[in-house]
Amino acid sequence: MSSSAAVRLESVTKRFGAVTAVDGLDLEIRDGEFFSMLGPSGSGKTTVLRMIAGFEAPTSGKVFLDEQDVTKQAPFARNVNTVFQDYALFPHLDVVGNVEYGLAVKKVPRKQRRERAEEALASVQLSGFGARRPSQLSGGQRQRVALARALVNRPKVLLLDEPLGALDLKLRREMQLELKQLQREVGITFVFVTHDQEEALTMSDRIAVFNHGRVEQVAAPAQLYEAPASSFVAGFVGTSNLISGETARVVLGREGMFSIRPEKILLAGTDEAQGLRGRATGVIEAVVYLGSVNHYVVRLDEGGTLTVLRQNLHGTSDQKVGAEGDRVTLAWADEHVIDLNP
Ligand code: ATP
Repeated sequence: MSSSAAVRLESVTKRFGAVTAVDGLDLEIRDGEFFSMLGPSGSGKTTVLRMIAGFEAPTSGKVFLDEQDVTKQAPFARNVNTVFQDYALFPHLDVVGNVEYGLAVKKVPRKQRRERAEEALASVQLSGFGARRPSQLSGGQRQRVALARALVNRPKVLLLDEPLGALDLKLRREMQLELKQLQREVGITFVFVTHDQEEALTMSDRIAVFNHGRVEQVAAPAQLYEAPASSFVAGFVGTSNLISGETARVVLGREGMFSIRPEKILLAGTDEAQGLRGRATGVIEAVVYLGSVNHYVVRLDEGGTLTVLRQNLHGTSDQKVGAEGDRVTLAWADEHVIDLNP
């Protein structure tokens, strides 16, 4: 992966009447990376994607592709392609016809068209499906056809707007891994929009976290989780476990806003918690069974709650932690206290 920018936004603002969808955004997406835009509904992700594609023009600011100013360029003139959530396949064409379509428009000779379509179908594991109609495919297969169709033009950048949103959870998880693998194989820059934090963490080289038309942080998945830059990021990526105000003064001896991730909190009295300085006491308010792990929501005597995560090694009768209503003492290492103060 080189360090040049495949996509660059410079002070980009987009207004729709009184709504500011994107607010003075600077963003750089590197050549060859899997880049995700993560954020709640309405935070501006799709609008950014549409401005990169050329479907929307910024109100102000500039869009660069490969360091070329494309702000005023029409969508078809840009070396990008988009995969939408609803696939938008042509129902009257067979699979190969759908995949070839863009090449036919570009007047690529028939034989070459066929070859490249077959190649694109193979890359999404759909060799042999060319003669089927979209109506004869499953949702996951249709999504793969949409991907093949977008890849067949060999765009410099592939834009994906919640492409897995319509799939059931199991298929979605499978496709996440496949998509990541595919991106590695084809080496094209992927810009992926999602509001699913797990999806973004699984797939991305880097993630931009959107909030109200601005980006709060751009970082690799582990860095976003281990060192969130704001309470918003801490809460959107993982469980925030915020500690602030009087609780921070008493429990941490510090002023401001902090967080400790659930798996970093231990129970005092256990071997692993020996020698740890962080301490708080409270009562288990809820036990949330999540299969391989349990979440214990502990109401602190000092105010507020902390969620503690424990691997579920002993089934629901994990006596080491306790049940609802039990008193517990929590412990943690200083280095795991995340400072969220600006
Ligand atoms: P979602 O995850 O729901 O798709 P998003 O983060 O992609 O959300 P956008 O679709 O970019 O968010 O929308 C950002 C803001 O801009 C929202 O307040 C939305 O209502 C507004 N908006 C987007 N497109 C238009 C439009 N064509 N006309 C008016 N307002 C719009």
